[in-house]
Amino acid sequence: MSTVHELAIAMAVVDQVESALREQEAEAGDARVRSLTLRVGELSGVVPEALDFSFGVAAQGTVLADARLLIETVEGRARCEECGRDTATGMPPDLWCGGCSRAMSLTGGRELEIARVVLDDPEIRRGGDVPEASHVPHR
Ligand SMILES: [Zn+2]
Repeated sequence: MSTVHELAIAMAVVDQVESALREQEAEAGDARVRSLTLRVGELSGVVPEALDFSFGVAAQGTVLADARLLIETVEGRARCEECGRDTATGMPPDLWCGGCSRAMSLTGGRELEIARVVLDDPEIRRGGDVPEASHVPHR
């Protein structure tokens, strides 16, 4: 399994979140990212497990180092311009209209976007809040 593709994506995502936070630095202060939600289409070619692993690597040493990565999968959908049929494409995608046997246009499933970024509130953190992802020692 190659994770090069996912690593490039993870690095781009980390980069994007970091620069967004820099832009609003005044409000964000020393805020760190608690969780990050990505919307990933099932036809985007991204393997969620590989992305999850790559994110851990890309986030090291950044404000996202302790962030939990949440992935929302978006199903592939297609629409027939001819008869208006709107349907899930399935995996692997079937793009032939079941009604009139024409090729349908893809309307969803190729998403790869940042859906949500939740910041760790510095005020709460100073109050002794335990981050969700904190490691629990065990035998
Ligand atoms: Zn049709």
